[in-house]
Amino acid sequence: MSCFDLTKGLCDELSSMIARWWWSQQDKTNKIHWLSWEKLTMSKENGGLGFRDLHLFNIAMLARQAWRLLTNPGTLCARVLKAKYYPHTDVLHSSAKDGISYSWRSILKGVELLKEGLIWRVGDVNSLKIWKDPWIPRSSTRKPITPRAGSILTKVSELIDPVLGEWDEALIDDNFWNVDAEEIKKIPLHDGVDDWAAWRYDPKGVFSVKSAYKVAVRKRDMGSGRDASSSSGSVYGTHTFDWLKIWRCKVAHKVQMFVWWFTHNSLAVRCNLARKGVEIDKICPVCKRFDEDNGHLFFKCKNARACWLALNLERERKIMVQCQSGKEAMSKLWTFAETTQQKILTFMWRWWLARNKVNVGEKMSSTWDTCQSVEFHLGEQERISKKNSQAKQPTVQR
Ligand SMILES: [Zn+2]
Repeated sequence: MSCFDLTKGLCDELSSMIARWWWSQQDKTNKIHWLSWEKLTMSKENGGLGFRDLHLFNIAMLARQAWRLLTNPGTLCARVLKAKYYPHTDVLHSSAKDGISYSWRSILKGVELLKEGLIWRVGDVNSLKIWKDPWIPRSSTRKPITPRAGSILTKVSELIDPVLGEWDEALIDDNFWNVDAEEIKKIPLHDGVDDWAAWRYDPKGVFSVKSAYKVAVRKRDMGSGRDASSSSGSVYGTHTFDWLKIWRCKVAHKVQMFVWWFTHNSLAVRCNLARKGVEIDKICPVCKRFDEDNGHLFFKCKNARACWLALNLERERKIMVQCQSGKEAMSKLWTFAETTQQKILTFMWRWWLARNKVNVGEKMSSTWDTCQSVEFHLGEQERISKKNSQAKQPTVQR
């Protein structure tokens, strides 16, 4: 995986095998893929579960090989490859030609990803090209925004005062737009060293596969127009939906997972199953009066309402019942006090478990039993939180 491009087709096949297994663990009866694999590979921040996109991870590992060739040109491997594939330039400027080996063609894919995060640090013996090399630390291109127009300046070294060894600020101000000039003058100059390559997503400039993988994912998401600010469900109304609130909420992980399903409207309630093509009676298995969707099951069903009332959450239920989607309901929930949030989420999870029992023909728990189990789990959660916070406190050494 670190030397060969496994191809997107192969990675997709492997991913679908993993997906089939994962979904079969989540829903042993229907084995429905409620969300696309691509969605699951999105970060938790963007509504996914952070599963690994195998092909992008593969490319990130190839980028590591490219990084090694760039930063350790003296190794035997680097010297052999240079002699064969880029004798007059460096790995960043090498290109694919007919007849090259599959492994080299693979590494060139890593080179493309490496270029996305590479930045040059400026030494005093430098040959960086002002207009072509990435050397200005800013988020996008890392090159000047100022158009070159008729400028005769070509190398970064020309912007350094040869006597003082500092940036020639007057020259920079004359040749660049203010937005570039201010950035350039902030770049530290390093005496007695050549320019060197750094990875801009690491404070120390060191490349890592993990960081390169994140860059690849971000590029993919932006390419498909579904980054955090666009949508695959990241946006609710005119506001961005904060998916991380689900994972930060102080409830058990299994409850967080349940909330994530609920928010994606991917719980196996009967209306959702029918939407997925399962031939099923949509009537609520609890009250047997109305179609079972999230809104009915959690906020309107007669038995559920009795629990909301018994838990002293009727005011909150009346607010949440107005919502048209899981995301809208959660957005309302985040406006409540933290303890109320915990109580509601724990109840919804317990209610879902109680409903699942009824769905397979078992007896419905009484309102009293459901409320007791909510209180029990809240107590357990509080005990675990206390234990964790005590464990985090530094021990005093005498
Ligand atoms: Zn019902």
